[in-house]
Amino acid sequence: MPLSNPTDTSYGPGGQFRPTSGYGTRTDPFQSSRVEYHPGQDYAAPAGTLISAAATGTVVYSGYNAGGYGNTVVIKSTGGDGSTFYTLYAHQNGNSMPALDSWVGRGEVIGEVGNTGRSTGAHLHFEVLNANATISHASG
Ligand SMILES: [Zn+2]
Repeated sequence: MPLSNPTDTSYGPGGQFRPTSGYGTRTDPFQSSRVEYHPGQDYAAPAGTLISAAATGTVVYSGYNAGGYGNTVVIKSTGGDGSTFYTLYAHQNGNSMPALDSWVGRGEVIGEVGNTGRSTGAHLHFEVLNANATISHASG
């Protein structure tokens, strides 16, 4: 799986966000008889809650992803060891999303919580990916 650090919990999106589904296998929220791999961390929050960037970097994706993520922002960053990694923020309502190629700082607003894509309620899907990742995995 394209995860650089599946157990990363350093992202603190704010007090209105409540961690729900984490990384790993879980029951498919759309089909209870099925088990799926969940490639990120979900945070329930009211629709419209501002989402802040987990890391400083360049916006490499800002738009609607038909594969399941809905309105999504992806930021490309450089880690302390010089390696490239990406943070992904999915299911947004489409407001306050930064322009492609813009530079954002850690903590800067990069969108608002929504319920777009493969999502069963307003929440943020947060994901950390390494440099070789392809952003195509449908998620809840
Ligand atoms: Zn998710």
